[in-house]
Amino acid sequence: MTQYDVIIVGGGPAGYTAALYCARAALSTLVLEAMAPGGQMGTTDQIDNYPGFADGVNGFELAMNMQKQAERFGAESTFAQVSSMELTEPEKRSTRRTEIPLPVVL
Ligand SMILES: Cc1cc2nc3c(=O)[nH]c(=O)nc-3n(C[C@H](O)[C@H](O)[C@H](O)COP(=O)(O)OP(=O)(O)OC[C@H]3O[C@@H](n4cnc5c(N)ncnc54)[C@H](O)[C@@H]3O)c2cc1C
Repeated sequence: MTQYDVIIVGGGPAGYTAALYCARAALSTLVLEAMAPGGQMGTTDQIDNYPGFADGVNGFELAMNMQKQAERFGAESTFAQVSSMELTEPEKRSTRRTEIPLPVVL
């Protein structure tokens, strides 16, 4: 089973921002997303208040780019609904069907 330095629950803008920073810091990073990359942002067709996009940007397109950017530095993504986490034991484990050792959870 792959060991990761960081597990991020949720592939919205916050999750992929964290993934980008972790992956760029050479931490092996996994994003667990229950639905689709981008979170709420991925459901809107026009975002007009994001710097760098003079004409606005489609939310889904921006979401795909956030995922691609994090993955360019080695972050991995998988579809998974995290149902609960055990965070009190020294080695943290998710309790969905597949158990993953969780050194750091965001
Ligand atoms: C219709 C609409 C239009 C919007 N337009 C704009 C706009 O123009 N400009 C702007 O700045 N903001 C806009 N927003 C707000 C913006 O989308 C949010 O502020 C932003 O998405 C928040 O990002 P987040 O990563 O914190 O959370 P979220 O986007 O909520 O992402 C959380 C992610 O975590 C996943 N998740 C949650 N629980 C679990 C679990 N147990 N296991 C696995 N995955 C899980 C969810 O599926 C989701 O993908 C809009 C929102 C909506 C709904």
